[in-house]
Parts: sequence; C-alpha cells; structure tokens
Amino acid sequence: MADFEIPKLTEFQLIPHTKDGVMAHSQPYVAKPEFQESLGFPGELVDNWEEKAVEKLGDLVKGSRALQVFLDACVKCGACTDKCHYYLGTSDPLNMPVARQDLLRKVYRRYFTFAGKYFPKLVGAVDMSKDVLDQWYSYYHQCSQCRRCSVFCPYGIDTAEISMAAREIMDEVGQGQKYCNEIIGKVFKIGNNLGLPEPALVDTLEGLEEDVLEDDGVAVKFPVDVEGADVLVVTPSADFFAEPHIDGLIGYAKVFHAAGINWTLSSYASEAANFGMFIGSHANMQKVSLRIREAAQQLGVKRIVFGECGHAWRVAYSFLNTLAGPFDFLDPNYPVPQHIIEVTHDLIQRGAITLDKSANDEHRVTYHDSCNVARASRMGNIPGGQFVLPREVIKASVNHYYDMAPETVRESTFCCGGGGGLLTDDLMELRVKGAQPRMNALQHVVDEYDVNYLAAICAICKSQFAKVMPYYDFPMDMIGSVHGLVSNAIQLGVKE
Ligand code: SF4
Ligand code: SF4
Repeated sequence: MADFEIPKLTEFQLIPHTKDGVMAHSQPYVAKPEFQESLGFPGELVDNWEEKAVEKLGDLVKGSRALQVFLDACVKCGACTDKCHYYLGTSDPLNMPVARQDLLRKVYRRYFTFAGKYFPKLVGAVDMSKDVLDQWYSYYHQCSQCRRCSVFCPYGIDTAEISMAAREIMDEVGQGQKYCNEIIGKVFKIGNNLGLPEPALVDTLEGLEEDVLEDDGVAVKFPVDVEGADVLVVTPSADFFAEPHIDGLIGYAKVFHAAGINWTLSSYASEAANFGMFIGSHANMQKVSLRIREAAQQLGVKRIVFGECGHAWRVAYSFLNTLAGPFDFLDPNYPVPQHIIEVTHDLIQRGAITLDKSANDEHRVTYHDSCNVARASRMGNIPGGQFVLPREVIKASVNHYYDMAPETVRESTFCCGGGGGLLTDDLMELRVKGAQPRMNALQHVVDEYDVNYLAAICAICKSQFAKVMPYYDFPMDMIGSVHGLVSNAIQLGVKE
C-alpha cells in the first residue's frame, strides 16, 4: 500500500532515535509561474534571490517584534525537541522544532547580529545559499504550523511564525508551493478552494435539500445569496461535497431550521479557508478575508457565522477584524465572527433546539481538538471555551463519549498531520508519518472503550484522517463532523 515504512502504534508514545536526513527528500511541488504571479510573487526564482531573501528577512524582522524575539530568545533548553508529531513520526532531527527554527535562525544571525557578522562559525551563522534554500523548502513544508511546540517552550517561541516567515521569503524570491498558491488563486477567481462555480454550488445545495427531505421528511433549506438574511454562513468548501464534511453542513442547516434562524450562504464568499495564513502572506490573507466583508455587506446580513474549519477559525477569531473590519454594520449583540459551535451550544443551553442522544447510540465517540482552534483561538466567553463548547455539543448529542489521554488533547493536542498547507498527495509520506501520535492516542480509546467515531471541527483534519486512517487499520469512515452528530440527534418537528 505504501512505498515507505508506516510507523508502529505503541502502548506509550515513544521518542524515536534520530535518523539524520531521512525526510530531506520530502518536498512539495513548486508553484508554476502563472500561480505565483497571480498572487503577486515572481514566477520563478529571481536572479539575485539570495540578496532578495536576506532583504525580505530583514523586513520581516523589522516589522515583527515577535519574530525577532523568537529568533533571538532560544536558549537550546531542548524542551521542544520531542513535541512535534513530525519528529515523533519521522525520526528526522530537523523535524525537532528547535532544529527547524535554526534553519532560519542561522541565516538571521549571519546578516542581522554582531556575532554572526564577524564570528559566524562561533554562533552557527551561515550565508544564504542554494543548500539552505533546499533545506528550507523541505523542512518548512514539514511544519503544519500547529503550535504544539510553543506550548512546551519556556519562552513561548512559536515555530509556526518562523515557518510562515520562511514560506513568505520563499514566495517572495519565486519559489512558492504549488498546493497552497493554486488554491488561493482559485479563491480569487471563483470564490472557493475547490473551484466550484456558482451554478454547481446552487445545484449541490438543491440536491442536499432533496436528500434531507427524503431522509427526514422535513423541508430543510440550504439558501444561497439570499439578501436580507440574518446570518451569513461562511464554511469550508469541502462541506459542499466531501464526506464526512457534508454531514456537518446538513447539521448546520438543521440547527438553523429547528431554531427558526434566517440564514444564507454566499456564492461570492463560498470559502472559509484562508491559505494566505499558511504561506505567511498578510496581503493574500487580507484579500481572502475582504471577500467575506463584501459578501456580508452585499447581502445585508446581521451576523457572520463560521462553519467547521480549524485554521479558518484562527484567521476569523484572531485576525478578521484587523484584516477586514470594522464590522460596525453588523448586529452588536453578537460576536464577530461567531463559530457554528457557539451558535448550536447557545441554542442547546436555551432549550431552543432539542436533541435525542439515542439517535447516535451506534457511535462511541472521541474528539480531536484541531490545532488552530485549540492553540490559536477561543470560543464563548469562558477561558478554554474552545475545549469545553465542542465537547458539550457532542455530549448533548450522544450517550457514549470518551476523551483521549490528557497529554494528547486540549492545548496539548496532536496535529492530524495534514495542517498548515500540507494536505497534498505529494506529501503523503509526511502526512502518514505525522499522524502517528494522534493515531496512537486513538488506538488507546478504541482498545479501552470501543470508540468507533472520531469527531472533529476542521475540514483539513477530516480530509487528512479519511486518507491516513486506513494506513493504521482504522476504517476511513470513522472520522466525522461534530455537526454530523448534531444532525442525527436534532428533532425537527412536523414532518411533511
Ligand atoms: S508548529 Fe507544530 S509542526 Fe511546526 S515544529 Fe512546532 S510542533 Fe512541529
Ligand atoms: S523549548 Fe524553546 S528555548 Fe527550548 S530549545 Fe525549544 S525553542 Fe529553544
């Protein structure tokens, strides 16, 4: 099945012996010139790219005090070394977070520190060179920007920020990644990552209305471009067609139907994902975000609600107001933006929707905290709400719920292995190996509690797990949407 070795699942998470350079070959395809240029980057490696790369690094450090502190502050304590799922799954020492950081740090030192300028060998500083660029291209595309390492770093050094900076520099000198840059281009051209045009979207949604009517006997609507609707739902485009994502979308529609909330999707902003963050490009991240603002204004909605998508929620929760605000034209009684989990949770608390847990009795459920939700955002008005609210929604929908081991969930959660713009077939070996720690934790609850449903609120996690679980002998349909469970349990009232 695989032309690489699949890591074993073990009783305890083992820390592997290092194997130098075993993942040096792992590189994603480089973006073609037309995709580079449509995002405002040079089509291919520019002539004086070494100079340009150093110049861009200087700009980034000057523009971000955080980045400079991250590059200056590391004391090589080693606390982060065994915290990255890619190191645990691959054994490559350059996948230790501190080593990954050092790939950029050694260039930073060479050009921007006194010691590095005059005594480079003493401080491990090196010139920008083709070998360095190759290593950057490999190993900064082996970081899913999950931020797990930063939780354990006594200085809070965030490798994700360093990885974003490296990718931004590579884009600026003309060596961008195909997967991310093509996808961003599709959002600008068509509105979503999938390149699903408006007529196909409308068709798909009509098909869903028919499916729900047939299955549940209730005319649940999936409205699109409805002017004057109260709520604009922005969701990952995977929700429109892929399993198990689509069950989540059906769940949102049923929640709005049951609560009598007037909502709509937008064919213009038909994508919650924002891959601009993965490539560290503020300009592209802003351009994607502005589409949501424009759609909200055109449709005249009062609220914006995000569907189940991990990094989209990070961009939305942490940056949307800065990137595309102010949202002073929306109803001030609701947070901008709001997560669908917050909406459903609130309706459950107020008794505005009714759930029959027994509808999910075949499911023995555990929950995967998605990195970007867990470590880069919050939900509700309580500390740790991003951990509490999804679990409360699940527990209101099912009778059998079991958490995975504490060191593998909540702020210590392991990445699915496909985040940060790495969900591409050219990185399959990395994705399978990087999933090992999560699969290990899952195996334990399968053994102990017969868990048969892994719930998630991230489109990337869902796609990644559906693909990699069979490598670890789990069925691919074990992964499901949280709102898929809500969809099964919700009581819709009078049938037609
Ligand atoms: S951010 Fe995540 S993927 Fe990147 S080095 Fe840290 S733990 Fe590894
Ligand atoms: S935990 Fe922080 S300070 Fe320690 S080696 Fe890692 S990045 Fe450096």
